[in-house]
Amino acid sequence: PQISGSVALFSVSSYACQRRTTLDNHNSNLTDALSLLAENAELNNEDGRGVAFRRAAALLKALPTQVISMSQLRGLPCLGEHSLRVIKDVLENGVSSEVESTKQSKRYKALKILTGIFGVGAKTADRWIRAGIYNLEQLRHSGQTLNRAQKAGLEHYDDLNEPVTKAEADAIGEIVQKAVDSVLTGSQVALSGGFRRGKLTGHDVDFLITHPEEGKEVGLMPKVVAWLESQGFLLYQKTTRNSYLESKDGPARPASNMDRFERCFSIFKLTKGKEQETASHKIWRAVRVDLVVSPISQFAFAVLGWTGSKLFERELRRWAGHEKNMSLSSHALFDNTQNKYLRATSEEEIFAYLGLEYIPPSERNA
Ligand code: ATP
Ligand code: MN
Ligand code: MN
Repeated sequence: PQISGSVALFSVSSYACQRRTTLDNHNSNLTDALSLLAENAELNNEDGRGVAFRRAAALLKALPTQVISMSQLRGLPCLGEHSLRVIKDVLENGVSSEVESTKQSKRYKALKILTGIFGVGAKTADRWIRAGIYNLEQLRHSGQTLNRAQKAGLEHYDDLNEPVTKAEADAIGEIVQKAVDSVLTGSQVALSGGFRRGKLTGHDVDFLITHPEEGKEVGLMPKVVAWLESQGFLLYQKTTRNSYLESKDGPARPASNMDRFERCFSIFKLTKGKEQETASHKIWRAVRVDLVVSPISQFAFAVLGWTGSKLFERELRRWAGHEKNMSLSSHALFDNTQNKYLRATSEEEIFAYLGLEYIPPSERNA
């Protein structure tokens, strides 16, 4: 073991999409602290601050060993003054005083509880807090009008705040595959999101659906949803239709990272296995599921864009724009220098166009 003096300096690339970040995190004491401050910033609509904390946490996740002294961090990118102060506090005192006081603050607690309701974002939560609503009980008695998503979110609050397991994700995958097979033979379903990166649990399950024959996927989502509904698998669904082709400003509008696929935000009713039955004898649980339909010509971009992590995606787009003069979206890659779209049928090709070493999903956990 090394004693002070010669502490090896790490060498780390500054964009998260240049790094291999597995789930094996040697610095969770530090990244937990920074992630909490990132979350708090996001809950307060301070996005710039949130990204800065996320970048700092992502850098530490990519380090091969545990950091024990500030000197090891010399020369590393992504660590701003504020993040360094938090790291120093944790290294010296075991905890960050800023994190501790945030966790105990009435506002943070309320924001967590209220945004834990599906369909409630930071802005709505803030409005409710200003109306004196800090918890679900107060919300239920407040007379506030809830939209359809929020009503479902409140009704299934406990289930939806319970992490989804890989086994549950697989069970839902089978149902989605069955739905897709029933409405259009030859359609393909691919698991994306955190489970594709190898995570053992998630807040939802994400699927991409396509068909090997371009154009066959048109109108697929309503049919899939109707099948699922007829079988009693859906507690809630909201389908948004594809707005990609109709958009006036053409595909891959650079400024927007919201994609325009036909998509369905849903809550599944998943029947539990015998082992998971609880004392309440409820034989099913609610699970958040995202479905996205992509034409085969855009599928590689959709897979890349929906696999995450969110920070990895953000960094890919930043790399494309700042370092390559390209615009990357979940639909396409546009080369602004050559003024043309770059076609791809695999994620590997997209990394190659971007001049990046290929990073497999399990190493995109930035
Ligand atoms: P978790 O386990 O918490 O679900 P996750 O990585 O799967 O983690 P999600 O929020 O499900 O997180 O998002 C999965 C991926 O889908 C992310 O890469 C994200 O960038 C992408 N994504 C989510 N929502 C949208 C959206 N509205 N438009 C475009 N991409 C999105
Ligand atoms: Mn997910
Ligand atoms: Mn999702």
